[in-house]
Amino acid sequence: MMIETLEQRRHPQKSMKIQRPIGTYDVTPDEAAVWSMLEDRIRAWFRSYNYGEIRTPVFEYTDLFKRGVGEASDIVAKEMYTFEDRGGRSLTLRPEGTASVVRAYIENGLAQKSPGVAKLFYLAPMFRYERKQKGRFRQHVQYGCEVFGAPGPDIDLELLVMVNQFYSELGLDELDLQINSVGCPKCRPAHREIFVKWAIPFLGQFCGDCCRRFEVNPLRMFDCKEERCQELLQEAPLLRHHLCTECETHFAALREGLDAFGIRYMENPKLVRGLDYYTRTAFEMSYAPLGSQGVLMGGGRYDGLTEYLDGPPTPGIGFGAGMERLLLILKETGKVPAVSTGLDLFLVTLGERAAREGGKLLLALRRDGFRCDRDYTGKSLRKQFQAADKLGARYAAVIGDNELEKQVIVLKDLKQGTQQEIPWKDGFAELKTVLHVSLFR
Ligand SMILES: [Zn+2]
Ligand SMILES: [Zn+2]
Repeated sequence: MMIETLEQRRHPQKSMKIQRPIGTYDVTPDEAAVWSMLEDRIRAWFRSYNYGEIRTPVFEYTDLFKRGVGEASDIVAKEMYTFEDRGGRSLTLRPEGTASVVRAYIENGLAQKSPGVAKLFYLAPMFRYERKQKGRFRQHVQYGCEVFGAPGPDIDLELLVMVNQFYSELGLDELDLQINSVGCPKCRPAHREIFVKWAIPFLGQFCGDCCRRFEVNPLRMFDCKEERCQELLQEAPLLRHHLCTECETHFAALREGLDAFGIRYMENPKLVRGLDYYTRTAFEMSYAPLGSQGVLMGGGRYDGLTEYLDGPPTPGIGFGAGMERLLLILKETGKVPAVSTGLDLFLVTLGERAAREGGKLLLALRRDGFRCDRDYTGKSLRKQFQAADKLGARYAAVIGDNELEKQVIVLKDLKQGTQQEIPWKDGFAELKTVLHVSLFR
């Protein structure tokens, strides 16, 4: 009989090597500095358009997404992380942003708290069981916004002006904006009838997904990625030519507005959003040089969604965008904004007393917002300087018994290779001034 060791009893599954789950990634400090800078820019950008941040739970009742995203969508049919909790309720990790935000808008009575129009943004992780593929993650971060209570088209225009401004400022100026109108419940049924009549003779030639879409929502066949289906659809009657007067006027006003702002766009009649509550404006923006790999954001109007989720009838519009994709595009084009991760000052000490007194210097500098560090492992003087170098420190502050005696600090400028003695007195006032002038000038 095998005798279990104490070690095995403590760690029964130790033979399995622990790694992060497939489709996830870690963000290590250098990368996180870039993330956090981009997140700051996104928040500042939304704020300048008077959007307020909304934070919703990472998981919701599964029904919200079934209704809000649509049972026939790929997300709900194939990609959700759904589980039963200990109380037997079906919960799902949030796969996209809009449904949760609409729910929160209704549940928190944000309609009453806003002057007619509520502008909300989010920046949060989403979860989808994606196939293993470059640039696809099972936990990914999306930023986006939703506007409630504005029927458009002026908010539709402002949204596109806003994203255009943001990406241009990041240096991505070769932008490809595609727009379309998906009509409304008034004009869609007539087109649907014409489309269905057209499609029936070809149905056998479409892929299985398309046949399924044909049953549930034929318009979504335009979404198909299969070349064969796209070829067949070349001849299909387009909704674009069957819009009602209101939809046509709305779309024309949006196009005129884009022209007035000098924003280039292409009309893409195949840009559809297949669910009934999507209305009128649909759009997608890419970084043109990267083709289909360059999609930055997509979104559109959903005047029927709030009511569909048991809220009062409220027009809505929004977009969602992936952080990972944005980072990838910035990297591939060499446009990642520079982030300083270097240290302002490294404390180098010799002897126990100097080490203790040096701690007071660090506290004073950190209080002023300087980024400082020191050695914690009893390194020699030479090794301490090596550490300062490795951390990219601009300055080293050197303190030993001599300096304590004379009440001075030796400040070495590691970039220029110069050094000076600075008096210790007045809470290190002179040292702080030197650092301020050189670092924050
Ligand atoms: Zn219409
Ligand atoms: Zn298809």
